[in-house]
Amino acid sequence: MQAKNWYGIDTVDLLEVLETDAEVGLSEEMAAKRHEEYGANELPEPKREPKLIKFFKHFNDVLIYVLLAAAVITLLLGHLIDTAVILMVVVINAVIGYIQQSKAEKALESIRKMLSLKAIVLRDSVRREVRSAELVPGDLVVLSAGEKNSADIRILKAANLKVEESSLTGESEAVGKKSAVLPNDTVLGDRLNMVFAGTTIAAGSGIGVVVAIGSATELGQISSSIEEVDRLQTPLLKQTAAFGKVISLTIIISSFVIFAIGYLFHDYATAELLLAIIGLAVAAIPEGLPAVLSIILAIGVQRMAGQNAIVRNLPSVETLGAVTVICSDKTGTLTKNEMTVTSVILEEKELTVTGTGYAPVGSIFYNKHPVNLVEYPDFKEFLTAVKTVNEAHLRCDEKGNWVISGDATEGCLITLAEKMNEEIQRLPILSKIPFDSDYKYMAALVEKEQSKWIYVKGAPESLLGMTDLSTSYGEGAYWHEKMFQHANKGERLIAVATKQVRSSTGFIDHEDMESGFRLIGLAGIIDPPREEVIEAIQQCRKAGIIVKMITGDHKDTAVAIGAQMGIGDGIRVLEGKDLDRMDDKELAQAAVNYDVFARTSPNNKLQLVKALQAEQHICAMTGDGVNDAPALKRADIGVAMGIKGTEVSKEAAGMVLVDDNFSTIVNAVKEGRRVYDNLKKTILFILPTNMSEGALIFVSILFGTAMPLTTVQILWVNMISAVTISLAIAFEKLEPGAMERPPRKPNSKLLSPYYIFRIFFVSIIICGGILLMNILLTEQQIDPSIVNTMTLQALVMVQLMYLFNCRSETEFALNRNFFSNKIAFIVSIILIAVQLTVTYTPFMNLLLGTVPLQAVDWIWPLTIGVLVFVIVEFEKWIVRHIKKS
Ligand code: ATP
Repeated sequence: MQAKNWYGIDTVDLLEVLETDAEVGLSEEMAAKRHEEYGANELPEPKREPKLIKFFKHFNDVLIYVLLAAAVITLLLGHLIDTAVILMVVVINAVIGYIQQSKAEKALESIRKMLSLKAIVLRDSVRREVRSAELVPGDLVVLSAGEKNSADIRILKAANLKVEESSLTGESEAVGKKSAVLPNDTVLGDRLNMVFAGTTIAAGSGIGVVVAIGSATELGQISSSIEEVDRLQTPLLKQTAAFGKVISLTIIISSFVIFAIGYLFHDYATAELLLAIIGLAVAAIPEGLPAVLSIILAIGVQRMAGQNAIVRNLPSVETLGAVTVICSDKTGTLTKNEMTVTSVILEEKELTVTGTGYAPVGSIFYNKHPVNLVEYPDFKEFLTAVKTVNEAHLRCDEKGNWVISGDATEGCLITLAEKMNEEIQRLPILSKIPFDSDYKYMAALVEKEQSKWIYVKGAPESLLGMTDLSTSYGEGAYWHEKMFQHANKGERLIAVATKQVRSSTGFIDHEDMESGFRLIGLAGIIDPPREEVIEAIQQCRKAGIIVKMITGDHKDTAVAIGAQMGIGDGIRVLEGKDLDRMDDKELAQAAVNYDVFARTSPNNKLQLVKALQAEQHICAMTGDGVNDAPALKRADIGVAMGIKGTEVSKEAAGMVLVDDNFSTIVNAVKEGRRVYDNLKKTILFILPTNMSEGALIFVSILFGTAMPLTTVQILWVNMISAVTISLAIAFEKLEPGAMERPPRKPNSKLLSPYYIFRIFFVSIIICGGILLMNILLTEQQIDPSIVNTMTLQALVMVQLMYLFNCRSETEFALNRNFFSNKIAFIVSIILIAVQLTVTYTPFMNLLLGTVPLQAVDWIWPLTIGVLVFVIVEFEKWIVRHIKKS
């Protein structure tokens, strides 16, 4: 199979060259053989940035410059250990940053793999879904709207097929595609019988055969790059980065000022003063903070993926915690998408259907008598129509379960037809209009008894518009009455109609659908609500999140299902056509006042997202179709369906639900709130350490006393103990009541006034306690190196105790969740072991300038630690009481 001008040969030759069959497809065996031979359908990995460059990029930071300057100064002063340790910290920082970045990239990469493209192929006459990487030349591929193509495909059949090829040709308008042979010199942009890798199907459907895969495709030849990994920035990380810069600058400026004070008012030696100022700078910079924050976010993304919510980028994790309204599709998200036809309404009569699920087991009755097709020719016509205008396939899998491939609404109609133990013909289709939720019907042109007919099935309102009601049965009143009755029970309705057309007709389009149809009947379909969703909706209510249903279904169906699930008041509903008539102001009001929207088009979703955003809502919006992409992009969190969703919708979304389940969104919101709370707690935990260290050094310069800590010791506290301990916060569980408070305001400041107060308050206690200890011990003429080691241990003890204060923002620390976070205890034990090593091993003594302590020397550090814990708990108690009153 050499590269050919595939567009220039007729389909018979084409199939022969590719050794495949238009009805059967390849055999699985042949496909496996070709996979061996041609390899996977993948583009070569893009060239990545060299690792070394990636690593060195982590040195490009104001904070690192400050540290590097400190290293140079200590080197010049001959303090080689200090220089070595500072350099080590710089390198460790870069290593952590580098590892963190690669881990996050890997996580996103594997998430991308989970989202890898799929294709529907026909192999051994069976339609099945395969990963696009498994496509081989000769595979027959089913093309449908919203899918992304990953191979070059020659079209065999096309129905209103339109393809968006801008990635290849730069032309943004979708191009209509046909199957006819083209001249051999046709240029790429005009090859209308080809669908290329990297393009998406904008509308319609078709069947084609794969002619080129991987780097042999047109896309593979022009470029071998795939999408860059998303940027790892989030609003919060940006805020902290900006905050870090402010701190660094403040420190640099104040260093000069303090240097001046020290130089002018005290008789410090320049070298000593410089060292002190380096200590100050190093103390006040929260070196470990950025790494810890991104670790927390990355853990959040991973946990969400474990719970079926694939977040495509880090910022979405934060936004999720702020969501105020979730707009959800109904079918498959709120309901099970397990459809069963329970009634068929024909002229004069209503049939009932027994059996549930897709198994073709059950019977059809009229007035309790089984129905046969000879006596009920209109039912036969109904079944012929629904079976013909249908792309779903029903089969029994290896385990004996009946499964459908294709759309559930169509699948249940096949099951209905199979429940009659009589053969219903699937008529060959000459031309068709595929289903689209914009116009809500699907039609096919067929030939029957030497004349041509159009069969159409779709939403009753769409079809009633095509029929002449004055000549239709009961002048339409009958049908309206039946629709109302069944929709009110929460049934989804499909109407079926037909009309004869001229025998010269070879092709149908929307103009052929405008009038002249006769309604054959209606099918009433039930799709039970998902039980777990009802509970999830209640949770949303408690959490101050409004749930809205936006469905393509009939308004009475929507209201009835909504009432069963707790969405809306069971009465009020707006239809898509009402929204279309409104101006922006009315839309904004309607979007807020109504919770159920029926017979909506994808454009209505976009209108609603915009209206809700204009009312300051943070909006999550679900979608699956190609036309939903604009609304998904516009929403604060676009949520695409993993199973039902088209590739286009998944690319536009910020989050993909592996299980299409509404409750997964609510779980993700929960996780989002947890992550955000923990990010804030981490900041609340880390900053007081830096502030108190900075203050200690500042005071000692001011009063000309001995430095309480060396630079190396400060770095130890900031980098090792602070980072280790704060990792425990990453694993902190959702706070009780976190889903009972309203969503966070999206533009709320990272540091609330209360947080700023707490940071200052705790810093002052720590600093005060340690100063007091220093003064008293110095008065007792205790050896300065012992005092110094005790100061170091006091700081670490405070961190250890303060961790337990920070685990809950306002609750009493010793609550019933005290033992819920095992990591907190593991981390504490590790840290205690490490601190003992620091105190009692000669190597660490040399490295950190510490000395072994006696048992009594631990009293001070322990007391300060416990004191901080008790005072902060007391402060929390007061705040709780103030809040209550
Ligand atoms: P939701 O947004 O809640 O998932 P939906 O999936 O029911 O809504 P659509 O798929 O737009 O919304 O369907 C709207 C209506 O179109 C349905 O109520 C039904 O009457 C009709 N319909 C749905 N699927 C088909 C189909 N495959 N062929 C013909 N008509 C269909």
